[in-house]
Amino acid sequence: MAERNIIPKALTMRCQAEIVAVASVTPQMRRITLGGPDIEVFLDYAGVAQPGAWGKLFIPSGEGRAYTIRRLDRQQGTLDIDMLLHGGEHADGPVSGWAATAQVGEAVVFGGPRNSGFELRTETRKLLLGGDATALPAMMAILESLPEQMEVWMWIEVADRDELQPLHTRAELHARWLLADAAQLPPGALLAQSIIEAAAEPFDQVWLAGESAAMKRLRQHFQQTLAMDADRVAAKAYWKYGERDHRE
Ligand SMILES: Cc1cc2nc3c(=O)[nH]c(=O)nc-3n(C[C@H](O)[C@H](O)[C@H](O)COP(=O)(O)OP(=O)(O)OC[C@H]3O[C@@H](n4cnc5c(N)ncnc54)[C@H](O)[C@@H]3O)c2cc1C
Repeated sequence: MAERNIIPKALTMRCQAEIVAVASVTPQMRRITLGGPDIEVFLDYAGVAQPGAWGKLFIPSGEGRAYTIRRLDRQQGTLDIDMLLHGGEHADGPVSGWAATAQVGEAVVFGGPRNSGFELRTETRKLLLGGDATALPAMMAILESLPEQMEVWMWIEVADRDELQPLHTRAELHARWLLADAAQLPPGALLAQSIIEAAAEPFDQVWLAGESAAMKRLRQHFQQTLAMDADRVAAKAYWKYGERDHRE
């Protein structure tokens, strides 16, 4: 097999990419597969294959938002991103709106890679993962990367039963899906409440991502109430209710 030159970690690339496939993963999750000569080079950048790595997707109108690299295929020279089609009151976004109708052959720009903040610590045996549908691509990539001798507790907030996806891992997985539409609470509230109620016992490492207010509440719970060291807890705001293009 030909040797690959891995391009150093500090470097990022702005790829001119083409949509080579689109597919519905669930009613609200659309998979966009990007390819082209730049993407082939990009796949050799260090950090691209790290679980939860992400990049900024710029759609044809020029708007750009962060999206996780769900999966990459070096043989085909492609990468997948899974885009949530969020909508409704205070929730229409240009990028998710575009994703709903994106077509094979469209040109986009994808810049990255960036780090998700997830790095499995050597001493971790018991891991907590939690997030909403925007964090599911990262959580699924993390799950797929874990070794056997690992206990994982996972909470995922999605709209309804149709949004459930099969989870694959070698680790011992305890997953709980939370259905937000039925709960009728603000986004992320069910997730934060369920994790806080259930997660009093010690975890070696915690990785969370989702709506900003829920992440703030969970960060406080683990770092202040449970006094976990900050370097064992990552809680990332992937979006903020009522705010366009939120950046932490
Ligand atoms: C590191 C990182 C990785 C991410 N990975 C993914 C990913 O793999 N897949 C994915 O789908 N998203 C992912 N996101 C989240 C995504 O970038 C945001 O949801 C983004 O705001 C969508 O852009 P937009 O143009 O659709 O909406 P914006 O223009 O940013 O926002 C418009 C309105 O929509 C609301 N809104 C934004 N997101 C949501 C939502 N999820 N539910 C309800 N209302 C919302 C905002 O509050 C605002 O009122 C990631 C974010 C980060 C920071």
